[in-house]
Amino acid sequence: MVINLPNPGQITRRYMCSYVSPESLMPPLELISCAAIARDRHNLQVELIDAIAEKLTIIQTINRIKQFDPDFVLSLTGFECFEEDMDTMREIRAKFPEKIFGFFGHYATHFPEQTLKYSSVDYVILGEPELVLDTLLSNLNFGLVKSDLLLEGIAFFKDEEFVKIGSPSRIKDPNELPIPAYDLLPKNGKYYEPLFSNPYGMIQTMRGCPYQCNYCVKSYGSKLSQLTVERIIEEIRIWKTLFKVKSIRFIDDTFTLNKGRTIELCKAIISNQLNIEWACLSRTDNLDEELLVWMKNSGCKRIYFGMETGSQRMLDIYKKSVKLEEALQSLLLCRKVGIETAAFFMSGHPQEEESDFIETLAFAKAAKLNYASFNPLTPYPGTGLFDQLKHLIDFEIYPYKNRWKDSAIYDNFDSDKLRFYKGFYLRPRYWITNIMVFGKNFFQIWKLGIGMLRYLFWDKQFVISGLKGEKDK
Ligand code: SF4
Repeated sequence: MVINLPNPGQITRRYMCSYVSPESLMPPLELISCAAIARDRHNLQVELIDAIAEKLTIIQTINRIKQFDPDFVLSLTGFECFEEDMDTMREIRAKFPEKIFGFFGHYATHFPEQTLKYSSVDYVILGEPELVLDTLLSNLNFGLVKSDLLLEGIAFFKDEEFVKIGSPSRIKDPNELPIPAYDLLPKNGKYYEPLFSNPYGMIQTMRGCPYQCNYCVKSYGSKLSQLTVERIIEEIRIWKTLFKVKSIRFIDDTFTLNKGRTIELCKAIISNQLNIEWACLSRTDNLDEELLVWMKNSGCKRIYFGMETGSQRMLDIYKKSVKLEEALQSLLLCRKVGIETAAFFMSGHPQEEESDFIETLAFAKAAKLNYASFNPLTPYPGTGLFDQLKHLIDFEIYPYKNRWKDSAIYDNFDSDKLRFYKGFYLRPRYWITNIMVFGKNFFQIWKLGIGMLRYLFWDKQFVISGLKGEKDK
């Protein structure tokens, strides 16, 4: 059994990031990929509990586990909810002392001993979970005492001694993995994304990213592993058949990294008459007009960019390897071709100055972005930025704490966020140029607009969550 653990907030958990997002709900792709390993390779009966999508409490989740009565339960732990995940898992685990429990995820990989200790699970899977899970399932002796396992990529306690075997390794060819068990996801349009044609589906076509942005927790590392175009088309078809999706979100870190493959995919979407709207995350230096035209013609509605800042000085500090002028031209090119642009900006680096904020706001306006979000920079363990600035950060894994020591950074961030949203969204030019784009999404825009006004004028806690992106890594 795989479980997306319950949480009082609408949390999205992915291997390399997690965030509270009341306006969107993503399917737990990594969990259903693991479910497919158990079902297709080991012929096990598998169930998914997506306690977030189904809004289950801990008690209700426990009852569901009792009904299914699994031998093995696997979960993914998120970042910002690490402490809650440990507590929740410990509570669930206590009800089923005879069953085997496992965790995976970026924090579980970096802090396996603490994860085992605070959650009481039996195993932590280090790094990419599927192949290690495959071997683990081949070796587990269900129903009996924990086996003496000597498998690469796992950690556990044996006689109260912490044991970690090997280190995370990468899956070389993801096409050899079974297709994620999409059919286990709850039906009835539980997953949705703002300003998108719903119901929507999600596919990860690539893992890893070769860039070296020093704030980023990449999905599994620098080396790329990619699905073939044929496999992606097959997965789109499954989404369409099972859930009648109108759109697909490709959730790769940098979807357009391989221009040839992206164009080939666009051609295949067109020739197979899939008629879907789609969106992806990309970098401004991965795009040119030929590629963008193919993307547009095959249904690409929007590209999300982790732009982070409009200051060349800060881009260099973040080792983003992006030239601002080229980035501006790419964003304008998207607009010319008819693809919407959404960019994530962040702020809070100790070296940031007022001039960087002014340049960022000016850049967001000049790039004629359709959507922009402004988020706090959080340095996460496992990133270069964290190693560089750890003397300035108050970090503790349990109870979880990850904050700049200097609280003035947060005060400045709050005031910059307010200035950014006012400066970007409260412009007649913005609304005039976007009114056609918003079109059929008018009611969603209205809802988000009301939320935005609430934030700008009377409730500073409000987050335009729908536009808060993957860059909260
Ligand atoms: S921020 Fe994006 S481009 Fe940079 S390393 Fe991370 S995933 Fe790659």
